[in-house]
Amino acid sequence: MKLLAVTDKVVDLIYSPSLVEKFGDVDMVLSCGDLPYYYLEYIVTMLCVPLLYVHGNHDPPIEYSASGAQLTGPGGCTNVHGRLVRERGISIAGLEGSIRYKPQGRYQYTETQMWTQTFKLSPALLHHRLVTGRPLDILLAHSPPFGIHNGRDRTHVGFRSFLWLMERFKPRYLLHGHRHVYNPLEVTETQYEDTTVVNVYPYKVLEIADE
Ligand SMILES: [Zn+2]
Repeated sequence: MKLLAVTDKVVDLIYSPSLVEKFGDVDMVLSCGDLPYYYLEYIVTMLCVPLLYVHGNHDPPIEYSASGAQLTGPGGCTNVHGRLVRERGISIAGLEGSIRYKPQGRYQYTETQMWTQTFKLSPALLHHRLVTGRPLDILLAHSPPFGIHNGRDRTHVGFRSFLWLMERFKPRYLLHGHRHVYNPLEVTETQYEDTTVVNVYPYKVLEIADE
């Protein structure tokens, strides 16, 4: 199973006809958010594979298409926030948004609000483990977990509830964005218990063993 994960930044290599040449062999695309909907729609149209996403804190409640249509998400793609889906043999659950850093803003959560979102997701994770005997394959998030790949400013602090979720449900991967990385020496992959935490910015190709 080959995955293309994208987040936070429109990459010229991807938003161009070379997309098919470079990434035509991926089985699925995952987006960690903060990307224009036209970008995700371009990817899903060109690659013709499932695209699953969560919203980032900069996603607008409504984006207007070239024809003036109102979009609340990218067409042809699947929003996995707050639920678990199985796609092409792997399980993916999602938690959107970032820590709340201003009073307004759709896809921002206080720590307490994210605990609520995490607890709401838990029965689906438990059910999946009981039925399949396997851990969740991928937790798709916009924000990092608390203390892993965080920034120094308040906006880029991660969620403590994600640490609990990894300890409790042991997903194989946690993919996130939100933290823009410009220093090539900065760590973007961290093992936390049984989970490989990956900062996708601005894109990553992952090979995941499917069973
Ligand atoms: Zn963000």
